[in-house]
Amino acid sequence: MAQNELVFASLGGIGEIGMNLAIYGFGEDWRRQWIIVDCGVSFASEEQLPGIDLILPDIRYLIEERKNILGLVLTHGHEDHMGALIDLWPRLKVPIHATPFTAALFEARRASEIGAPEIPVQVVPLDGHLSIGPFAIDFINVAHSIPESNALAIRTPAGTILHTGDWKIDPTPLLGGPTDAAKLSALGEAGVLALVGDSTNAIRDGRSPSEADVAKTLGELIRTAPRRVAVTTFASHVGRLRAVADAARAAGREVVVVGRAMERVVQVARETGYLDGVQEFRGVDSYDYLPPEKVVALCTGSQGEPRAALARIAEDEHPDVALSRGDRVIFSARPIPGNEKAIARVINGLVSQGVEVITDRTHLVHVSGHPRRDELRDMIGWVRPKILIPAHGEPLHLAEHAELARRAGVPQVLVCRNGDLVRLSPGPAEIVDQLPSGRLYKDGALVIAAEARTVAARRRLSFSGVVSVAIAVNDKGALLADPEIELIGLPESDAGGTPLLEVARRAVEATFETRRRDPDEVAESLRRAVRGAIAERWGKKPICHVHVLVV
Ligand SMILES: [Zn+2]
Ligand SMILES: [Zn+2]
Repeated sequence: MAQNELVFASLGGIGEIGMNLAIYGFGEDWRRQWIIVDCGVSFASEEQLPGIDLILPDIRYLIEERKNILGLVLTHGHEDHMGALIDLWPRLKVPIHATPFTAALFEARRASEIGAPEIPVQVVPLDGHLSIGPFAIDFINVAHSIPESNALAIRTPAGTILHTGDWKIDPTPLLGGPTDAAKLSALGEAGVLALVGDSTNAIRDGRSPSEADVAKTLGELIRTAPRRVAVTTFASHVGRLRAVADAARAAGREVVVVGRAMERVVQVARETGYLDGVQEFRGVDSYDYLPPEKVVALCTGSQGEPRAALARIAEDEHPDVALSRGDRVIFSARPIPGNEKAIARVINGLVSQGVEVITDRTHLVHVSGHPRRDELRDMIGWVRPKILIPAHGEPLHLAEHAELARRAGVPQVLVCRNGDLVRLSPGPAEIVDQLPSGRLYKDGALVIAAEARTVAARRRLSFSGVVSVAIAVNDKGALLADPEIELIGLPESDAGGTPLLEVARRAVEATFETRRRDPDEVAESLRRAVRGAIAERWGKKPICHVHVLVV
């Protein structure tokens, strides 16, 4: 007789940091019911993926299984957990569940996107409970770098899973309660089948410092600043915004919010009570009127994003905010891997203007929101899972988390990859199937398949440019006018000073002598000739298009 199985798969977020999307299924394998946990994005680097803004998980499998999906639960409001929803939800239309701040932040993001569809979100109270089909889900508060991060205890008739989401142990987190050790221990007491957990900082020993330590440093740095101070951090890090605001108040300074993403989060945080008791912030238009020693600017752009406030300030191109010699900029954030160069560009721009730049290289102005090794051991100790699956990490992080778990005595540790379908019960955990998985790209307003030739072509274009040739012939194959040739993205002339346009023209004329009749053959022979002639002079082969018009 077929048995009810409990299965897990990740369609994003395992083997990479970003694009988190996990699914849990329960039932006989031909009629499983599913829940989705999170639906996030990754950020693309311009060099690797020219013109691509975001990377989204490929949800082909979920679209196929749509009628069996009972709902989607968001652990918290970071983009790597909910950033793909606006684009992908219309293809799924499943109910979304989230705690109040996450729901409000999602709605604010959605409303800011032109043409985004209405997307209903059902609000779950803090420490709340949700029953969806065979899944009974408890939200457990964990400390992180955004309000309302939740671990999910997912109870099923085949056992309980703890999906940690993003977490750390911070006894003094500034916002919200600390990680709920009592609830996690009680869960362990009752028995946990599997723990699917955050591996981001699994290579770092010890414990991450507290947000309160960062607040102290920020207070000191703002108090002792001789002139203007600008602080940049992740817009959604409301605890940090609060720390900056408190430091500003203590130093007799006003806070000016610079950047749309920051304004949006501040508004959501006000509405949901996370800035209660914090002074009103000033709009960017008041920046000019405040004396230098009376202002702290809270800016977007901690990742070096070229269009964000700080990058524009560093280029001296911001319409409202300028910094000058003797001002102080604090980077209260760490580079997300891939952003180092962009951040260095911003820092160098600021330093060139005589601005003092302070980063976490020299001061405790940032701490991670993810658990280091001692914290991972604490979690395992509380929960005592039979199975542990490392998630939310690159291969190295997953391997280190796995090794740590084995040493901590977890009986079964399974490192898997995106698309692996893992049976958690019955029997020992094992990979039993492969689900279609992969990536989608957000390209302008469209979502395209990663396999599409668009991006590969764009990369080739950026490497070697295009030669475009157009000729008109009559039905006897005779040339009717001079060929039209255009070079895009090629050098003007070769080492000897001959224009490459001339090189292309000669190649066309020399090859055309053959007087072929078939326009496709003519086009192909010209294409090869032009490409070859250019390559001989240049050492690189451009993309070459030939249009033959028969008149
Ligand atoms: Zn995350
Ligand atoms: Zn997070």
